[in-house]
Amino acid sequence: MDVTTARERLTDMLSELDRSIGVLQGDPASIRDRSAADAGADLTDTDRAQAMLAVATTHRRAVLDALKRLDEGAYGECVDCCRPVPEGRLEARPEAARCVQCQGKRERRR
Ligand SMILES: [Zn+2]
Repeated sequence: MDVTTARERLTDMLSELDRSIGVLQGDPASIRDRSAADAGADLTDTDRAQAMLAVATTHRRAVLDALKRLDEGAYGECVDCCRPVPEGRLEARPEAARCVQCQGKRERRR
């Protein structure tokens, strides 16, 4: 994937995430409307929104990091082993910072 395409996709993802995060963090008006309509589901909705917010925030950070690597000319290299991240992986996850092996190692360590 070339750098221009990567940047476009990452920028799109970032604005998408910013929008989701904005909605999840709450436009008070929309939350009030929803709880009035469906008061019984309040707690579940709040829990789900919290979980989604955590995922979106982590994802947003990964996208920002990837954009920074683009600026530094290091995009597409694994941040751990410096070998190129396979094209297919970047297609699926343009924000991927590590090759499959290093990501696997990292997740096992956690
Ligand atoms: Zn690696």
